[in-house]
Amino acid sequence: MEKEKLLEEIAKNIKDCKKCRLYQSATNAVPGEGNINSKIVFVGEAPGFNEDISGRPFVGRAGKLLETLLKEIGYKREDVWIGNVVKHRPPENRDPLPDEISTCKPFLDLQLKTIHPVLIVTLGRFAMNYFYPEGKISRDRGNLTRARDYLIYPVYHPAAALRGNSMMADLRTDFVRIPEVLKKAEEILEKGDTFPQIPSQDSDGQLNLGL
Ligand code: URA
Repeated sequence: MEKEKLLEEIAKNIKDCKKCRLYQSATNAVPGEGNINSKIVFVGEAPGFNEDISGRPFVGRAGKLLETLLKEIGYKREDVWIGNVVKHRPPENRDPLPDEISTCKPFLDLQLKTIHPVLIVTLGRFAMNYFYPEGKISRDRGNLTRARDYLIYPVYHPAAALRGNSMMADLRTDFVRIPEVLKKAEEILEKGDTFPQIPSQDSDGQLNLGL
């Protein structure tokens, strides 16, 4: 199945998902969006109020900051793919619970295998810990890390930076380095490392997503 179709199929599965409690209080699922051929993918935690209303990731205040930071390094939001660990909004924007993260995990895993990015920029600790459970955001932010089959670059979450402290400066410092980190990630991959493959199709042409 071609990449675009597969991602649409995954999005459809996400919209229909009732595997954890979050769909009950959510308005819309937020599968993720953007350039599915991007070398860089941004992964956040979970949809907030505005994302729940619109069904799109990072469209509130944190999203505006993300767009500003992207612009500063020469990207528009449409140039990259943006998604979240958890696809339905946790009530009152509470932290996602461990069982909600693990139930939702196959969706992001499959999206990433399909998009096959060079670099994953994780926004905040939940996204970093998805790939790298031992990670500590204050220690590991700004460091390119190999975690599960991916190269990840953890940075602070834009919403945390908006709370007004030194995190904003740190987030900017880390963001400005993204083009250089992408180059480094490409060099690492050129040395022969591989990514997981897109799952195969059934004989009738239907993809068994197992979601
Ligand atoms: N915060 C996130 O982690 N994700 C969004 O989509 C919006 C805000």
